[in-house]
Amino acid sequence: MNDCLFCKIVAKEMPAEIVYETGRTLAFRDINPQAPTHVLVIPKGHYSDAAALADADDGLADEVLKAAHAVAVMEGVSEDGYRVVFNTGAGAGQTVFHVHAHVLGGRALTWPPG
Ligand code: 5GP
Repeated sequence: MNDCLFCKIVAKEMPAEIVYETGRTLAFRDINPQAPTHVLVIPKGHYSDAAALADADDGLADEVLKAAHAVAVMEGVSEDGYRVVFNTGAGAGQTVFHVHAHVLGGRALTWPPG
């Protein structure tokens, strides 16, 4: 998708602080972090949201979740607990329509989220 911000990060046309990468996934720090650890994990291929990723039905959603856990371990937040969030749809706060898992940790996280 030519106009997709995260596709541009995958293509290295836009800078990002990449923290983890596999063949089909990429993880980079959020530009506006909401916690000491705030990393976005995406599939390199373009899927608009979590539902589209799940519909791909080729194991890619599993890879994204595994990458999210690997990031949490690397960031040292897996022991104390961390949150994986897929905002899905504008009404839920999704602003970038290339599916991404927010990995948040490093502080006490309240529930419910706003
Ligand atoms: P959403 O609101 O779609 O769930 O999350 C989009 C996230 O992307 C936001 O947390 C926002 O801070 C982050 N973001 C937006 N533009 C950029 C960017 O250019 N680079 C990075 N690293 N993160 C971005």
